Parts: sequence; structure tokens; C-alpha cells
Amino acid sequence: MHTKLPKYLNFTRIADKGGEIQGKWPISELPRLKELLVNDAGEVEVEMKLGRQGKFRYVTGTIAGMLAVTCQRCMQPMDLPLNTEFKLALVQTEEQADQLPDEFEPLLADEDKISVPDLLEEEMLLAIPLVALHDTDCSDYLLEQKKWQAENESVQEKKNPFSVLKDLI
Ligand SMILES: [Zn+2]
Repeated sequence: MHTKLPKYLNFTRIADKGGEIQGKWPISELPRLKELLVNDAGEVEVEMKLGRQGKFRYVTGTIAGMLAVTCQRCMQPMDLPLNTEFKLALVQTEEQADQLPDEFEPLLADEDKISVPDLLEEEMLLAIPLVALHDTDCSDYLLEQKKWQAENESVQEKKNPFSVLKDLI
């Protein structure tokens, strides 16, 4: 089992030595992400690798976990597996960001004090789909709804001939 990650990392120090960090972070301590979820139970597993490439310091890694979101088809809660990779290089200015090798996304942050939850949250918000849907689980619910709709429509159809008659008279 991984231990909880530190809230802040001294990016420069770790990247210059080259280092790997593994740990977990509670979903309940990701305030912006939490707002999009049905509940904030559980945690994400994180692996990070820090190092230097040329003049840039970078962090690459993965975030994996299970998020509880609302299915946009049946509006019931569903588990959304999350598994995302990131490749970020630390920059201080836009000019530096422009010079980054293509494989890196710029991370604009304080080089001595990187906020781990901010980084995780940013990457997770990018990774989760705008519209989450059950694979198949909600088809029963939808069938019920369709049946109900169909019944209602047939009731209306039965009424229709009379209303048409009425119009004729
Ligand atoms: Zn659903």
C-alpha cells in the first residue's frame, strides 16, 4: 500500500537529483474535482518521475483511481475508472513555455514549492469526460422509461380520433 503523498514538493531539488515518487492522495482533498462527483470517497494512486532534460526540469507520471460521477443518461451514480498520464515541464515564463519540446505541457509553478493536489486536480479535470455514461447498466432503467412513454403515447393516440372527429363536427 502506498502512503499519502506530501502536499508540496521541492521540484528543483528532486528533479536535479532525479527521483521517483509514489503515493496516494484522498479525493476528498481535491476541492474542485470533488464538486463534480457524487461522493468523494476513496483515493487516487500516483506515480511521478522527476528529472532534467536539457535546461528543463520535468515531471511525468500516472494517476489512477475510481471516481463516482453521475451518468448523464439515467442520472444515477456510476463508477468512472480514471487512468491518466501526464508529461509536464516546469516553466516560469511564456517564452520558456514556447521553447518546450513538443512532448511536454508547460507547468507554470513555483520551482521550490509545487502543490501536489493542484497538479493532480488539474490533470484529473482534463482527463475526465464531459459526459459520463454507463456502459450498459442503465438500459433497464431506460427501458422502463421508454415503456412508460410508449404507454402514454398510445393513450394519446386513442384519444386522437375523437379529437379529430370533434374538429370535423
Ligand atoms: Zn446510466
